[in-house]
Amino acid sequence: MLYHSTRGGGQAVDSARAVLEGLAPDGGLYMPENLPEFDWKACLKGSAQEMSTAILSALLPEIPDMRTLVSKAYTGKFETEELTPTVAVGDYSVLELFRGPTSAFKDVALSMLPQLLTTAKDVCGQKEDIMILTATSGDTGKAALVGFRDVPGVRICVFYPNGGVSQVQRAQMVTQEGENVAVCAVEGNFDDAQTGVKNIFADCRGKELPFALSSANSINIGRLAPQIMYYFKAYRDLLDAGKIQLGDTVNFSVPTGNFGDILAGYFAKKLGLPVGTLICASNANNVLTDFIRTGTYDKRRPLLKTTSPSMDILVSSNLERLLYLMSGDTALVAELMAKLNTEGCYTVPEALKNAIDAEFWAGCCDDAKAAETIGRVFNEKGYLCDPHTASGWVVAEDYVNQTGDKRPMVVLSTASPYKFPAAVLSAIGGDLNGDEFAQMERLEAMSGVKIPKNLANLQGMEERHTGVIAKDKMLEFVLQA
Ligand SMILES: *Cc1c(COP(=O)(O)O)cnc(C)c1O
Repeated sequence: MLYHSTRGGGQAVDSARAVLEGLAPDGGLYMPENLPEFDWKACLKGSAQEMSTAILSALLPEIPDMRTLVSKAYTGKFETEELTPTVAVGDYSVLELFRGPTSAFKDVALSMLPQLLTTAKDVCGQKEDIMILTATSGDTGKAALVGFRDVPGVRICVFYPNGGVSQVQRAQMVTQEGENVAVCAVEGNFDDAQTGVKNIFADCRGKELPFALSSANSINIGRLAPQIMYYFKAYRDLLDAGKIQLGDTVNFSVPTGNFGDILAGYFAKKLGLPVGTLICASNANNVLTDFIRTGTYDKRRPLLKTTSPSMDILVSSNLERLLYLMSGDTALVAELMAKLNTEGCYTVPEALKNAIDAEFWAGCCDDAKAAETIGRVFNEKGYLCDPHTASGWVVAEDYVNQTGDKRPMVVLSTASPYKFPAAVLSAIGGDLNGDEFAQMERLEAMSGVKIPKNLANLQGMEERHTGVIAKDKMLEFVLQA
């Protein structure tokens, strides 16, 4: 199947090469020329792994033996072989995406990406090692480190914003073991780290390097595609629970940063799944809310630090894929992205705005509202959620209140509450004495929800990666790694 850049430059490549390269040569993102015919009803009948196999085979047909790759990625790695269970909470269903090895939803994709990437490397006959470069707002980094640790022929380098992640998130990354891993803090925020990584790609193009660069961020189609599965899984869970009949539409509220998770939902819809409105939930960094409501994307504002750091993003990379999917116009996408780069903002044509309006709704939630929601959901429904999930919950409520749309609602839960113990503990009225590990234990005692093993085990582990660098020193760090 042919993939080409959202900006129209360069040549079309097959799916294996698209995964291997990550980013298209003109700076655009790879997209399939046409989405394949897909038997979505048959897909719903399988296990989580079978759903994954069907979806990934359809989108990445040049990557062979998908069933084996899926099994290697997931078997025995998650708390449950269901991978992503759905839990009824009040009027909504919560899709728990955090039951993987690092307790964030990134595990669904980053358990799979190493399998896809190493197979793509073989298919394309590439001999040299791959260097994975990743900027993280907190969760991608650890999930990628665990996924790529000691994978032969691959090295990985993770950059996180210094002071921009939770203590638990930092501990997860700086204690990472493995022969092929490097981790470093960057002085700046997530956008600085992400821009730094993009610049390294640009600076290294055409240069002789001892490795080929690739990315584990959701700019890589091999990162996005594995996420489509859980929309099918949620739909199937609602069917099994008797909450819907086959063909009924379901709304999804998605805590959003880089627009990857929610875009996977739109792919699911394009593959036939009866998805209703996709609700884009942001925190106080509400650039996407403004965009979806007005048609103007304007990043010229300060990046705020919030209690949901994985959504502290001003430049949502995957929005570019949506603009392409909805306009089909690579020249327009190239023009808008150039404007974003030079002027910091762009406005989409009326027709494109209307097309987005028909599929998406957007809202946002500040830290105070997220805390209030964590407390309320815990006290009234007995369910403990993290600040990202809380944003999804509140914006789902706002949507229902403002539109009266009563179709079944699935809220995507993207992280374990134990990744953000301070915010969650204070939201349910606990005292914040001690470090985040002491807070985790207090949270467990108050809530009765068990601390995931991978997080409990972090305490006392050796810190191996303690470096902090200026943002213009990132390339140097990579070359040494
Ligand atoms: C990454 C992340 C998000 C946002 O996902 P995107 O794909 O970037 O939109 C939301 N919540 C958590 C906990 C995350 O780690």
